[in-house]
Amino acid sequence: MRFNFRPQSHWRFKRFRYRTEVLRCASCGTVNVTPRPVCRRCRSRNLLREELPERGRLVAFTVVKSPTEEHKELAPYIVGLVEFEDGTRVVTQITDSDPEELRTGMTVERVVRKITHDGDSGIIVYGFKFRPLVS
Ligand SMILES: [Zn+2]
Repeated sequence: MRFNFRPQSHWRFKRFRYRTEVLRCASCGTVNVTPRPVCRRCRSRNLLREELPERGRLVAFTVVKSPTEEHKELAPYIVGLVEFEDGTRVVTQITDSDPEELRTGMTVERVVRKITHDGDSGIIVYGFKFRPLVS
């Protein structure tokens, strides 16, 4: 994932930053979590907006200690594979938790969090992450 937005594109993609919509490919079913004109898997342009479910199941996770340059300030952070009831899977950041608290199979819930900070424009980009279910 790469975020290098100028203010103009930021506003164009606002829906994706502040809300929790993804683009599901009508051709192959792949969920595209970042705004894009074509499906990342099959290059289809037939993409449908879809709201992500609020809860899912943590299938796998890993701690990223050496991220790419643009995510350096976030390190270390947790990346997880989350599966929803319909079998859809997304790779997403897991927040508000330590790796020791996480178990595969546990229920996670969607939250909106700061994703990155664009140093040039001063814009803080928000988007969805998941965290262990707080009951
Ligand atoms: Zn596709």
